[in-house]
Amino acid sequence: MSDMAQPVLALEALKKSYNIGKPNELEVLHGIDLSIKRGEFTALVGPSGSGKSTLLNLLGLLDQPTAGELYLMGQPTRTMDDETLTAMRSRHIGFVFQFHHLIPAFNVLDNVLMPMMIRHGRPNAEMRERALQLLDQVGLLKFTDRKPGDLSGGQQQRVAIARALMTRPDLILADEPTGNLDTQTAAGVFDVFRQFNEAYGCAVLIVTHDPRLSATCDRTITLIDGNIASDVHEPGNTAQTSKPG
Ligand code: ADP
Ligand code: MG
Repeated sequence: MSDMAQPVLALEALKKSYNIGKPNELEVLHGIDLSIKRGEFTALVGPSGSGKSTLLNLLGLLDQPTAGELYLMGQPTRTMDDETLTAMRSRHIGFVFQFHHLIPAFNVLDNVLMPMMIRHGRPNAEMRERALQLLDQVGLLKFTDRKPGDLSGGQQQRVAIARALMTRPDLILADEPTGNLDTQTAAGVFDVFRQFNEAYGCAVLIVTHDPRLSATCDRTITLIDGNIASDVHEPGNTAQTSKPG
C-alpha cells in the first residue's frame, strides 16, 4: 500500500487552539511543519507547557487540529470522519502514556491482548502467540498470569509497551513513558522501545525530559512555546552528549 520513502507522518502548518471561553482562544501550536519517516527513533523535548502533549494528541488522531493538515501514511486526515479516524488510529498507531492505564483486574497477558479484543473480540491462538512473544521480548514471560498491581513500575510500563505493539503499529507515540521511573529503570524501558524499533522498523516518537535518554535517539525535536525551535538528526548518537552520573 505504501512505498518505503513515504513518511509515516507529515504535518503542514499544523495549528492548535484551545477554547478557553469566548472571546479568548489559546493558540498552543503555531504552525508546525514536520515529517516522521519509517523507522525513525525521535525524542520530543521542551519545557513544560510548550505543547508536547498537545502535539502528540494531534499526531495520534486523539484530537483535531485547528488549521493545517496532518497526513498519516500519506493520507490527509483533516476531512476524515470519526469512524475512519478510529480505524486509522487503531491500525497504524500505538500509544504509551506516563501512567500505563493497564486494567487492574486483567492479568498481564490479557492486558497485552486488550487491543485485539477490542478489534476482534475473543483472541485466537495466533494473537495469543504474538502476545506471548512480545512479553518474552520485554522480559516478562514469567509474569503473564500476574495482575499489574503485582509488578514494579518499570515492569508495568513494559507491559504497556508490549500492548502498544500488539497491533503492529507503524508509529509508536509515547508521552513521558519513563516520567515516573528511576533513572536505571527508565533506561531499561527506553531500551525496549529501541529494541522494537530495530526489530519491526516502527517509527517511535517519545516525549522525555531526560537528556541522557534523548541523547540515545536518532533525532531530537525541541518544542518551545508551540514552535519547533530545533530539529537535530544524529543517527547512532549514544550518551556522548549527556553528563556523566
Ligand atoms: P506540555 O506537554 O509540553 O507540557 P501541553 O501540550 O500539555 O504542554 O500544554 C500546552 C499548553 O496548552 C499549556 O499552556 C496548557 O495549559 C494548555 N492546554 C493543554 N491542554 C489544554 C486544554 N484541554 N484546554 C485548554 N488549555 C490546554
Ligand atoms: Mg505533557
